[in-house]
Amino acid sequence: RTFEDLGLSTWLLLTCKELGMVRPTPVQQGCIPQILNGKDVFGMAQTGSGKTAAFALPILQKLAENPYGIYALVITPTRELAFQIADQFNALGSSLSLRCTVVVGGMEMTAQALALMNRPHVVIATPGRMKDHFVSDGDMARYFSKAKFLVLDEADRLLEVGFEEEMRTILQIMPSNRQTLLFSATMTGNLKALHELSSDKAFFYEA
Ligand code: AMP
Repeated sequence: RTFEDLGLSTWLLLTCKELGMVRPTPVQQGCIPQILNGKDVFGMAQTGSGKTAAFALPILQKLAENPYGIYALVITPTRELAFQIADQFNALGSSLSLRCTVVVGGMEMTAQALALMNRPHVVIATPGRMKDHFVSDGDMARYFSKAKFLVLDEADRLLEVGFEEEMRTILQIMPSNRQTLLFSATMTGNLKALHELSSDKAFFYEA
């Protein structure tokens, strides 16, 4: 299978080519058509498998069709991963005027809050800092009220006990008609429960 076969637009095919992405990886082959089709996705995929582009490409394609407010929220467990994901969004979205904001701990809250109020297309956040913004400003949730995608990257780590409260806050605030894309290296009990809850709408990918 080629990127063409997956249903991506010409401008994204060109971007992939420019970035030296010749063939889609297995996780991209499995997930991109399903995400474009509106499905929730549960993907078993490790770092290095190409999972970031597997969710970034279809999100960018849909966003280009109808950019409206904050379009996607990506939650990832560490600051380093957040910046790496932002780099890939910026590279893949270089031919759009994509606005992408990273919201992680250890940086100024006020500057982040102002960036969020500017309604970037994509927000990439760690759970603790995202929750802090929702708690410290009751109006913040409203900026996410039209969001179409919630991505849980490294979901096995996000659903560990340490992030429980943060994840509950975030899941409650995100609109219920969103698409949820969940990627995890392992299938834990918590994830199984989530998968079964929404299995009618979900596509399950395993290598
Ligand atoms: P990830 O698994 O998302 O951390 O991606 C690992 C690396 O693979 C990143 O540097 C991507 O830019 C690169 N990559 C993703 N998809 C492809 C592809 N189809 N062909 C070549 N490189 C890719």
